[in-house]
Amino acid sequence: MALSKILLYYTFTPIADPTAVMLWQRDLCESLGLKGRIIISEHGINGTVGGEMAACKKYVRKTREYPGFKGMEFKWSEGGAEDFPKLSVKVRDEIVSFGARGELKVDENGVVGGGQHLKPGEVHELVEKRGEDVVFFDGRNAMEAQIGKFRDAVVPDVDTTHDFIAELESGKYDWMKDKPVVSYCTGGIRCEVLSSLMKNRGFSEVYQLDGGIVRYGEKYGNQGLWEGSLYVFDKRMHVEFGEDAAELGHCVLCGNPSNTFVNCVNEDTCRRQVLLCDDCSSHIATSHCGRPDCAAVAAELAAS
Ligand SMILES: [Zn+2]
Ligand SMILES: [Zn+2]
Repeated sequence: MALSKILLYYTFTPIADPTAVMLWQRDLCESLGLKGRIIISEHGINGTVGGEMAACKKYVRKTREYPGFKGMEFKWSEGGAEDFPKLSVKVRDEIVSFGARGELKVDENGVVGGGQHLKPGEVHELVEKRGEDVVFFDGRNAMEAQIGKFRDAVVPDVDTTHDFIAELESGKYDWMKDKPVVSYCTGGIRCEVLSSLMKNRGFSEVYQLDGGIVRYGEKYGNQGLWEGSLYVFDKRMHVEFGEDAAELGHCVLCGNPSNTFVNCVNEDTCRRQVLLCDDCSSHIATSHCGRPDCAAVAAELAAS
């Protein structure tokens, strides 16, 4: 079997005709046998596609022929077309949905007015210089931070990126408006938008971790300021930077250490993913999220 790969990429650039780009990208992927998910908006493109190595290489070359995508970086990772159920290429209001379409400004150089990019080493320099004053601000959904985050990071109370604007305007974080704030997320894309929303709301010194936790982990593993596992949006669910990763998460039912998210067994009315230990998740009666109605459903299923 030919060697396969997955490509991850995004760029913020003005796209005059998102529909035309969508149709072109769909044709290109179909002709190369790639599967995955691509979102295009008037502000850029965000994609994850998998397929044979030769097809991926050709995809990168062809995609970079579009002037706005010329300098786009592609991350190569393990996997292939079989990791995706199908090919989906869509035009959306935003490539990451913060509900901020009218606010986000993008030009040929990317997001206008975003936080300053810091490479992993530069984050360490900032911490050396400014010490305890530096605040790490988690740009992901709160659930993701349950199994891993930067040491002492502030984790906003958000279920989805759509909740960020209200959270930033709640006043809860006003104390950090004059502090150096390092925003971070999985691969960097969410902080491109988040850091600009923060600056627009009076946070005066905002940075963003370049390449996200993924790149930081490649450089420092578990020897730096990161603690625990990294939540990922594919079937792996989480990854660790080496075997010495700290276990931050706890089973919601028994409290034992766990970094494994499991779907609540009450699939009809609860779609929550919760941390469960192997012991609890291996029995139907204890593979629920802890909500009383879900516990009742689990008990019923276990008895039948
Ligand atoms: Zn448990
Ligand atoms: Zn539940």
